[in-house]
Amino acid sequence: MFYRQAWLDINLDYLADNINYLTSLHPDKKLMAVIKANGYGAGDYHVATVAISQHVDYLAVSSLDEALCLRYRGIQTPILSLGYILPEHLLTAQKHNVTISVDSLEHAYSIKKSKVTGLILHIKIDTGMNRLGFKKVSEVQQAIDLLKEENHIEGIYTHYVDSGIADNPFTDQQYQLFENILKETDYTFEYIHADNSDAILSRKDPLTNMMRAGIAMLGISSYESELKPVVSLYTRTTLCKKVKKDETVSYSATYRTTEDEWIATLPIGYADGFIRHNQGRNVYIEEEYAPLVGRICMDQCMIHVSKEYPVNTLVEIFGSHISLVDMAKELDTIPYEILTGMSERLARVYRQNNEILAIENHRLDSLLNK
Ligand SMILES: *Cc1c(COP(=O)(O)O)cnc(C)c1O
Repeated sequence: MFYRQAWLDINLDYLADNINYLTSLHPDKKLMAVIKANGYGAGDYHVATVAISQHVDYLAVSSLDEALCLRYRGIQTPILSLGYILPEHLLTAQKHNVTISVDSLEHAYSIKKSKVTGLILHIKIDTGMNRLGFKKVSEVQQAIDLLKEENHIEGIYTHYVDSGIADNPFTDQQYQLFENILKETDYTFEYIHADNSDAILSRKDPLTNMMRAGIAMLGISSYESELKPVVSLYTRTTLCKKVKKDETVSYSATYRTTEDEWIATLPIGYADGFIRHNQGRNVYIEEEYAPLVGRICMDQCMIHVSKEYPVNTLVEIFGSHISLVDMAKELDTIPYEILTGMSERLARVYRQNNEILAIENHRLDSLLNK
């Protein structure tokens, strides 16, 4: 249940369609669903459940904490932690069947030294990110030889820097480096993966047998595609009033009416992740695009509309009329940052088969111990 009219609407049917679309592009490859940062704000548990129902057989998160959040809700599918896990936490990872990324020779030695065995491991190769991962093939081989007897080295992967640019030579170069490392490594990996969402939509390769999709599952990509937008942000007006010419709206009086204007108030603000930079942008109300006027407050903001609207009129902040890609451009950011910035104060409404499957209102729910 939620009592404030500001919520993320998550369409799980579109999510399933998007997953099927992605797998149809590469029918011979397995799909790993990347649901770090609480499924990019969409809710890791629900995204995972739909992904599993669509035959996705691997999940990826950024940390052991995120993996455990899924395990504690009963998800048994293999989960890869993309981020670093401390040696003293390896036993917990092993107990909960969380796959570890091995990202350097030093890391391999620390795993060996921890005396934890029976780990499932994916070797991470750095082909250009310069974030985590092995760069030297000799070290990859040493790490494999060090760990293979007592653990299950299951996979190897790399990550593209800029796959959102078509025919990018940088991406080709990264692929080449990855291919060379695989050629020179004496080991047979069950899973070889490199493609993120944009690479899945723009590339084909004979080397990898698994792909890692994150944002494309939610219907967002740099390329033209049949993906459908899964997440929308809605609110409803709480007041609509005529403001006289030459009055100001909100803090710091940054907006002044140039005539008598209809101003509507919305119960959403920067504490929801609806950042102050949105001032001046449009939202969508009934059949018009209405600009956000004046400073965005912590919990509320105001829009200039062409006519009077009744209280509780639906307003779309992003969704089918305002795409996250356009909104991100206007805010000089990327859709990922907007989505993951949506605070837990916003209720999440999950739809499936044209019905409401679940409503989550994180803080209140946790207190009600539901
Ligand atoms: C986040 C992430 C992905 C998924 O990226 P998308 O662009 O959302 O598909 C894949 N691989 C790694 C290593 C990541 O960190």
